[in-house]
Amino acid sequence: MSYLQLSNISKHFDEYVAVDNISLSVEKGEFISLLGPSGCGKTTTLQMVAGFLNPTAGSIVLDGKNITAMKPSERGLGIVFQKYALFPHMTVLENVAFGLEMRKVGKNERLQRAREALELVHLGLFIERYPRQLSGGQQQRVALARALVINPHLLLLDEPLSNLDAKLREDMQLELHDIQRRVGTTTIMVTHDQSEALAVSDRIAVMQSGRIEQIDKPFNVYEHPKSDFVSSFLGKTNTFEGRVSHGRLQVGGQHIAVDDLKLADSSNTRFALRPEKIRFCSDAPKISGKVSNRVFLGSQWIYEVQTPLGDFLIYESNNQKHDEIQEGETVGLSWDSQDMRLIAEEPASHV
Ligand code: ATP
Repeated sequence: MSYLQLSNISKHFDEYVAVDNISLSVEKGEFISLLGPSGCGKTTTLQMVAGFLNPTAGSIVLDGKNITAMKPSERGLGIVFQKYALFPHMTVLENVAFGLEMRKVGKNERLQRAREALELVHLGLFIERYPRQLSGGQQQRVALARALVINPHLLLLDEPLSNLDAKLREDMQLELHDIQRRVGTTTIMVTHDQSEALAVSDRIAVMQSGRIEQIDKPFNVYEHPKSDFVSSFLGKTNTFEGRVSHGRLQVGGQHIAVDDLKLADSSNTRFALRPEKIRFCSDAPKISGKVSNRVFLGSQWIYEVQTPLGDFLIYESNNQKHDEIQEGETVGLSWDSQDMRLIAEEPASHV
Protein backbone atom coordinates (compact mmCIF):
# COMPACT_ATOMS: atom_id res chain seq x y z
CA MET A 1 0.00 0.00 0.00
CA SER A 2 1.15 3.55 -0.71
CA TYR A 3 2.40 5.81 2.09
CA LEU A 4 -0.62 8.09 1.72
CA GLN A 5 -3.83 6.77 0.23
CA LEU A 6 -6.89 8.88 -0.46
CA SER A 7 -9.75 6.54 -1.42
CA ASN A 8 -12.95 7.82 -3.02
CA ILE A 9 -12.83 11.13 -1.16
CA SER A 10 -15.71 13.56 -1.66
CA LYS A 11 -16.61 16.83 -0.01
CA HIS A 12 -20.06 18.38 -0.32
CA PHE A 13 -20.96 21.82 0.98
CA ASP A 14 -24.75 21.41 1.18
CA GLU A 15 -25.73 20.63 -2.41
CA TYR A 16 -22.41 21.77 -3.86
CA VAL A 17 -19.84 19.07 -4.68
CA ALA A 18 -16.41 20.65 -4.15
CA VAL A 19 -14.46 17.37 -4.34
CA ASP A 20 -15.96 14.53 -6.30
CA ASN A 21 -14.79 10.98 -5.56
CA ILE A 22 -11.02 11.47 -5.70
CA SER A 23 -8.54 8.64 -5.23
CA LEU A 24 -4.84 9.38 -4.96
CA SER A 25 -1.83 7.27 -3.95
CA VAL A 26 1.34 9.03 -2.81
CA GLU A 27 4.62 7.17 -2.24
CA LYS A 28 6.96 7.94 0.65
CA GLY A 29 9.25 10.85 -0.22
CA GLU A 30 7.21 11.92 -3.22
CA PHE A 31 6.41 15.55 -4.07
CA ILE A 32 2.89 15.78 -5.51
CA SER A 33 1.29 18.98 -6.75
CA LEU A 34 -2.46 19.52 -6.98
CA LEU A 35 -2.75 21.86 -9.94
CA GLY A 36 -5.86 23.44 -11.37
CA PRO A 37 -7.90 26.60 -11.86
CA SER A 38 -9.52 28.55 -9.06
CA GLY A 39 -12.37 26.65 -7.41
CA CYS A 40 -11.45 23.18 -8.70
CA GLY A 41 -11.16 21.73 -5.19
CA LYS A 42 -7.39 21.78 -4.53
CA THR A 43 -7.48 23.51 -1.15
CA THR A 44 -10.53 21.52 -0.03
CA THR A 45 -8.60 18.31 -0.79
CA LEU A 46 -5.55 19.53 1.13
CA GLN A 47 -7.70 20.62 4.06
CA MET A 48 -9.19 17.14 4.29
CA VAL A 49 -5.68 15.63 4.40
CA ALA A 50 -4.76 18.19 7.08
CA GLY A 51 -7.91 17.37 9.07
CA PHE A 52 -9.42 20.87 8.97
CA LEU A 53 -12.35 19.54 6.93
CA ASN A 54 -14.11 16.18 7.26
CA PRO A 55 -14.74 14.32 4.02
CA THR A 56 -18.39 13.66 3.15
CA ALA A 57 -17.29 10.23 1.91
CA GLY A 58 -14.09 8.24 1.53
CA SER A 59 -11.03 7.47 3.61
CA ILE A 60 -7.50 8.75 4.14
CA VAL A 61 -4.79 6.32 5.23
CA LEU A 62 -1.32 7.58 6.18
CA ASP A 63 1.49 5.12 6.79
CA GLY A 64 -1.00 2.30 7.34
CA LYS A 65 -3.15 4.29 9.80
CA ASN A 66 -6.66 5.45 8.99
CA ILE A 67 -6.53 9.16 9.84
CA THR A 68 -9.88 10.15 8.30
CA ALA A 69 -11.45 11.08 11.63
CA MET A 70 -8.28 12.12 13.46
CA LYS A 71 -7.85 15.66 14.79
CA PRO A 72 -5.39 17.85 12.87
CA SER A 73 -3.02 18.02 15.86
CA GLU A 74 -2.83 14.21 16.05
CA ARG A 75 -1.79 13.77 12.43
CA GLY A 76 1.79 15.05 12.83
CA LEU A 77 1.76 17.17 9.68
CA GLY A 78 3.79 20.23 8.71
CA ILE A 79 1.70 22.90 7.01
CA VAL A 80 2.69 26.08 5.15
CA PHE A 81 -0.08 28.37 4.00
CA GLN A 82 -0.05 31.27 1.59
CA LYS A 83 0.07 33.64 4.57
CA TYR A 84 2.94 32.47 6.73
CA ALA A 85 1.43 33.79 9.99
CA LEU A 86 4.75 34.01 11.84
CA PHE A 87 4.48 35.26 15.42
CA PRO A 88 5.60 38.91 15.19
CA HIS A 89 6.80 39.16 18.81
CA MET A 90 9.07 36.08 18.52
CA THR A 91 12.49 35.90 16.90
CA VAL A 92 13.03 33.66 13.90
CA LEU A 93 14.58 30.99 16.16
CA GLU A 94 11.69 31.18 18.64
CA ASN A 95 9.15 30.99 15.82
CA VAL A 96 10.72 27.77 14.53
CA ALA A 97 11.23 26.26 18.00
CA PHE A 98 7.63 26.97 19.04
CA GLY A 99 6.14 23.83 17.49
CA LEU A 100 8.65 21.71 19.41
CA GLU A 101 7.78 23.48 22.66
CA MET A 102 4.14 22.54 22.05
CA ARG A 103 5.33 18.95 21.69
CA LYS A 104 7.14 19.18 25.04
CA VAL A 105 10.63 18.88 23.55
CA GLY A 106 13.30 20.09 26.04
CA LYS A 107 14.79 23.56 25.56
CA ASN A 108 18.29 22.58 24.45
CA GLU A 109 17.04 20.05 21.94
CA ARG A 110 14.40 22.35 20.48
CA LEU A 111 16.86 25.21 20.00
CA GLN A 112 19.34 22.84 18.41
CA ARG A 113 16.72 21.41 16.04
CA ALA A 114 15.38 24.88 15.21
CA ARG A 115 18.92 26.03 14.34
CA GLU A 116 19.39 23.01 12.08
CA ALA A 117 16.08 23.64 10.32
CA LEU A 118 17.06 27.28 9.75
CA GLU A 119 20.47 26.21 8.39
CA LEU A 120 18.61 23.94 5.98
CA VAL A 121 16.69 26.89 4.53
CA HIS A 122 19.85 29.08 4.52
CA LEU A 123 18.75 31.35 7.35
CA GLY A 124 21.43 30.40 9.86
CA LEU A 125 22.57 34.05 10.09
CA PHE A 126 19.08 35.43 10.75
CA ILE A 127 18.00 33.54 13.83
CA GLU A 128 17.85 36.54 16.17
CA ARG A 129 15.82 38.74 13.80
CA TYR A 130 12.10 39.39 14.07
CA PRO A 131 9.77 38.58 11.14
CA ARG A 132 9.30 42.29 10.29
CA GLN A 133 13.08 42.51 9.68
CA LEU A 134 12.93 39.85 6.95
CA SER A 135 12.07 39.96 3.24
CA GLY A 136 9.03 38.06 1.93
CA GLY A 137 11.23 35.23 0.67
CA GLN A 138 13.03 34.94 4.02
CA GLN A 139 9.72 34.87 5.90
CA GLN A 140 8.54 32.15 3.57
CA ARG A 141 11.66 30.12 4.40
CA VAL A 142 11.06 30.57 8.14
CA ALA A 143 7.56 29.17 7.63
CA LEU A 144 9.08 26.21 5.80
CA ALA A 145 11.64 25.64 8.57
CA ARG A 146 8.83 25.83 11.14
CA ALA A 147 6.89 23.15 9.27
CA LEU A 148 9.94 20.89 8.78
CA VAL A 149 11.39 21.12 12.29
CA ILE A 150 8.83 18.70 13.74
CA ASN A 151 9.90 16.01 11.21
CA PRO A 152 6.36 15.82 9.87
CA HIS A 153 4.90 12.64 8.39
CA LEU A 154 3.67 14.82 5.56
CA LEU A 155 4.38 18.38 4.44
CA LEU A 156 1.35 20.26 3.11
CA LEU A 157 1.95 23.46 1.15
CA ASP A 158 -0.92 25.71 0.05
CA GLU A 159 0.25 28.20 -2.59
CA PRO A 160 3.41 28.75 -0.50
CA LEU A 161 5.13 31.00 -3.04
CA SER A 162 2.21 33.10 -4.23
CA ASN A 163 3.13 36.18 -2.16
CA LEU A 164 6.57 36.44 -3.75
CA ASP A 165 7.55 38.48 -6.78
CA ALA A 166 8.32 36.64 -10.03
CA LYS A 167 12.13 36.46 -9.68
CA LEU A 168 12.11 35.40 -6.04
CA ARG A 169 9.40 32.92 -6.79
CA GLU A 170 11.56 31.25 -9.42
CA ASP A 171 14.54 31.09 -7.06
CA MET A 172 12.36 29.67 -4.29
CA GLN A 173 10.96 27.01 -6.62
CA LEU A 174 14.48 25.68 -7.14
CA GLU A 175 15.22 25.95 -3.44
CA LEU A 176 12.00 24.21 -2.42
CA HIS A 177 12.80 21.41 -4.85
CA ASP A 178 16.32 21.10 -3.42
CA ILE A 179 15.25 21.20 0.26
CA GLN A 180 12.48 18.66 -0.22
CA ARG A 181 14.87 16.26 -1.99
CA ARG A 182 17.42 16.61 0.80
CA VAL A 183 14.94 16.15 3.64
CA GLY A 184 12.87 13.55 1.80
CA THR A 185 9.57 14.57 3.43
CA THR A 186 6.52 13.41 1.50
CA THR A 187 4.94 16.62 0.24
CA ILE A 188 1.64 17.75 -1.26
CA MET A 189 1.51 21.25 -2.70
CA VAL A 190 -1.53 23.16 -3.94
CA THR A 191 -0.86 25.58 -6.77
CA HIS A 192 -2.60 27.14 -9.75
CA ASP A 193 0.77 28.00 -11.31
CA GLN A 194 1.68 25.42 -13.94
CA SER A 195 5.37 26.38 -14.17
CA GLU A 196 5.68 26.01 -10.39
CA ALA A 197 4.10 22.56 -10.50
CA LEU A 198 6.34 21.51 -13.41
CA ALA A 199 9.46 22.77 -11.61
CA VAL A 200 9.08 21.11 -8.22
CA SER A 201 6.91 18.01 -8.51
CA ASP A 202 7.61 14.32 -8.93
CA ARG A 203 4.03 14.00 -10.14
CA ILE A 204 1.29 16.50 -10.90
CA ALA A 205 -2.42 15.86 -10.31
CA VAL A 206 -4.32 18.17 -12.65
CA MET A 207 -7.74 18.92 -11.19
CA GLN A 208 -10.93 20.25 -12.72
CA SER A 209 -14.40 20.56 -11.19
CA GLY A 210 -13.55 18.55 -8.08
CA ARG A 211 -11.94 15.68 -10.00
CA ILE A 212 -8.46 14.60 -11.00
CA GLU A 213 -8.22 14.80 -14.79
CA GLN A 214 -4.73 13.33 -15.01
CA ILE A 215 -1.89 12.42 -12.69
CA ASP A 216 1.60 11.81 -14.03
CA LYS A 217 5.20 13.02 -14.12
CA PRO A 218 5.57 16.68 -15.20
CA PHE A 219 7.07 15.74 -18.59
CA ASN A 220 4.26 13.30 -19.36
CA VAL A 221 1.48 15.64 -18.30
CA TYR A 222 2.95 18.32 -20.56
CA GLU A 223 3.89 16.15 -23.53
CA HIS A 224 1.06 13.62 -23.34
CA PRO A 225 -1.97 15.41 -21.89
CA LYS A 226 -5.02 13.19 -21.70
CA SER A 227 -7.48 15.92 -22.51
CA ASP A 228 -7.87 19.32 -24.10
CA PHE A 229 -8.26 20.81 -20.66
CA VAL A 230 -4.92 19.44 -19.37
CA SER A 231 -3.18 20.47 -22.58
CA SER A 232 -4.40 24.04 -22.44
CA PHE A 233 -3.92 24.39 -18.68
CA LEU A 234 -0.25 23.38 -18.90
CA GLY A 235 1.17 25.91 -21.29
CA LYS A 236 -0.09 27.14 -24.63
CA THR A 237 -1.28 24.91 -27.44
CA ASN A 238 -2.15 25.56 -31.07
CA THR A 239 -5.17 23.53 -32.11
CA PHE A 240 -6.55 22.95 -35.58
CA GLU A 241 -8.95 20.65 -37.28
CA GLY A 242 -8.54 18.66 -40.47
CA ARG A 243 -9.52 15.54 -42.36
CA VAL A 244 -7.02 12.74 -42.80
CA SER A 245 -6.98 11.12 -46.19
CA HIS A 246 -4.30 8.82 -47.68
CA GLY A 247 -1.74 9.80 -45.04
CA ARG A 248 -2.27 13.49 -45.65
CA LEU A 249 -4.04 15.97 -43.50
CA GLN A 250 -6.34 18.25 -45.43
CA VAL A 251 -7.07 21.54 -43.76
CA GLY A 252 -8.86 24.06 -45.90
CA GLY A 253 -6.86 24.08 -49.15
CA GLN A 254 -3.70 22.76 -47.44
CA HIS A 255 -2.31 19.23 -47.54
CA ILE A 256 0.10 18.26 -44.80
CA ALA A 257 2.02 14.99 -44.87
CA VAL A 258 1.39 13.06 -41.66
CA ASP A 259 2.41 9.53 -42.82
CA ASP A 260 4.52 8.90 -39.74
CA LEU A 261 1.47 9.45 -37.52
CA LYS A 262 -0.13 6.33 -39.04
CA LEU A 263 -3.59 7.83 -38.87
CA ALA A 264 -6.55 5.98 -40.26
CA ASP A 265 -8.59 7.86 -42.83
CA SER A 266 -11.31 9.47 -40.86
CA SER A 267 -13.71 12.30 -40.63
CA ASN A 268 -12.68 15.51 -38.96
CA THR A 269 -9.86 15.22 -36.45
CA ARG A 270 -8.50 17.81 -34.04
CA PHE A 271 -4.79 18.28 -33.45
CA ALA A 272 -2.71 20.08 -30.87
CA LEU A 273 0.78 21.42 -31.45
CA ARG A 274 2.95 23.11 -28.81
CA PRO A 275 4.33 26.54 -29.82
CA GLU A 276 7.96 25.50 -29.17
CA LYS A 277 7.69 22.57 -31.61
CA ILE A 278 7.21 24.89 -34.62
CA ARG A 279 10.17 26.31 -36.52
CA PHE A 280 10.58 28.86 -39.27
CA CYS A 281 11.80 27.45 -42.56
CA SER A 282 12.01 28.64 -46.14
CA ASP A 283 12.45 25.21 -47.81
CA ALA A 284 9.30 23.10 -48.14
CA PRO A 285 7.33 24.57 -45.25
CA LYS A 286 4.23 22.74 -44.04
CA ILE A 287 2.31 26.00 -44.17
CA SER A 288 2.99 29.69 -44.72
CA GLY A 289 1.59 32.66 -42.88
CA LYS A 290 2.02 36.29 -42.00
CA VAL A 291 3.65 37.44 -38.75
CA SER A 292 1.03 39.55 -36.96
CA ASN A 293 2.83 40.09 -33.67
CA ARG A 294 6.15 39.39 -31.97
CA VAL A 295 7.32 39.84 -28.42
CA PHE A 296 10.87 39.58 -27.05
CA LEU A 297 11.13 37.91 -23.61
CA GLY A 298 14.91 37.74 -23.25
CA SER A 299 15.49 34.01 -23.48
CA GLN A 300 12.92 33.62 -26.25
CA TRP A 301 10.76 35.29 -28.86
CA ILE A 302 7.02 34.80 -29.09
CA TYR A 303 5.44 35.15 -32.53
CA GLU A 304 1.83 35.13 -33.70
CA VAL A 305 1.43 34.02 -37.28
CA GLN A 306 -1.81 34.08 -39.28
CA THR A 307 -2.07 30.90 -41.33
CA PRO A 308 -4.78 29.10 -43.28
CA LEU A 309 -5.05 26.75 -40.25
CA GLY A 310 -5.77 29.68 -37.95
CA ASP A 311 -3.54 31.89 -35.81
CA PHE A 312 -0.41 30.10 -34.63
CA LEU A 313 1.65 30.89 -31.57
CA ILE A 314 5.35 30.11 -31.96
CA TYR A 315 8.09 30.15 -29.31
CA GLU A 316 11.60 30.43 -30.58
CA SER A 317 14.65 30.40 -28.34
CA ASN A 318 16.96 33.40 -28.56
CA ASN A 319 19.90 31.43 -29.95
CA GLN A 320 18.56 31.11 -33.50
CA LYS A 321 20.98 32.56 -36.03
CA HIS A 322 18.64 33.50 -38.87
CA ASP A 323 17.83 37.09 -39.82
CA GLU A 324 15.43 38.84 -37.54
CA ILE A 325 11.83 38.14 -38.47
CA GLN A 326 9.67 41.24 -38.72
CA GLU A 327 5.99 41.85 -38.15
CA GLY A 328 4.12 41.75 -41.46
CA GLU A 329 6.63 39.34 -43.02
CA THR A 330 5.44 36.17 -44.77
CA VAL A 331 7.13 33.11 -43.28
CA GLY A 332 7.18 29.35 -43.80
CA LEU A 333 6.49 27.09 -40.84
CA SER A 334 7.42 23.50 -40.26
CA TRP A 335 7.35 20.89 -37.50
CA ASP A 336 7.80 17.18 -37.03
CA SER A 337 4.57 15.32 -37.62
CA GLN A 338 5.05 13.25 -34.47
CA ASP A 339 4.84 16.47 -32.44
CA MET A 340 1.22 16.85 -33.53
CA ARG A 341 -0.98 15.34 -30.89
CA LEU A 342 -4.35 13.96 -31.67
CA ILE A 343 -6.93 15.43 -29.32
CA ALA A 344 -8.89 12.59 -27.80
CA GLU A 345 -12.61 12.91 -28.33
CA GLU A 346 -13.53 10.67 -25.43
CA PRO A 347 -13.83 12.30 -21.98
CA ALA A 348 -10.71 12.01 -19.82
CA SER A 349 -10.74 9.13 -17.39
CA HIS A 350 -10.62 9.90 -13.71
CA VAL A 351 -7.96 8.46 -11.44
P1 ATP B 1 -8.35 28.53 -5.31
O1 ATP B 1 -7.19 28.26 -6.21
O2 ATP B 1 -9.16 29.71 -5.73
O3 ATP B 1 -8.00 28.54 -3.85
P2 ATP B 1 -9.31 25.80 -5.03
O4 ATP B 1 -9.12 24.89 -6.20
O5 ATP B 1 -8.39 25.63 -3.89
O6 ATP B 1 -9.38 27.30 -5.52
P3 ATP B 1 -11.38 25.23 -3.11
O7 ATP B 1 -11.00 26.29 -2.14
O8 ATP B 1 -11.03 23.84 -2.78
O9 ATP B 1 -10.82 25.58 -4.56
O10 ATP B 1 -12.95 25.34 -3.37
C1 ATP B 1 -13.64 24.44 -4.22
C2 ATP B 1 -15.07 24.88 -4.33
O11 ATP B 1 -15.74 24.68 -3.09
C3 ATP B 1 -15.23 26.35 -4.66
O12 ATP B 1 -16.28 26.50 -5.60
C4 ATP B 1 -15.59 26.99 -3.34
O13 ATP B 1 -16.42 28.11 -3.53
C5 ATP B 1 -16.33 25.87 -2.63
N1 ATP B 1 -16.13 25.96 -1.19
C6 ATP B 1 -14.96 25.90 -0.53
N2 ATP B 1 -15.15 26.01 0.81
C7 ATP B 1 -16.50 26.15 1.00
C8 ATP B 1 -17.33 26.30 2.16
N3 ATP B 1 -16.82 26.32 3.37
N4 ATP B 1 -18.67 26.42 1.93
C9 ATP B 1 -19.19 26.36 0.68
N5 ATP B 1 -18.45 26.22 -0.44
C10 ATP B 1 -17.12 26.11 -0.29
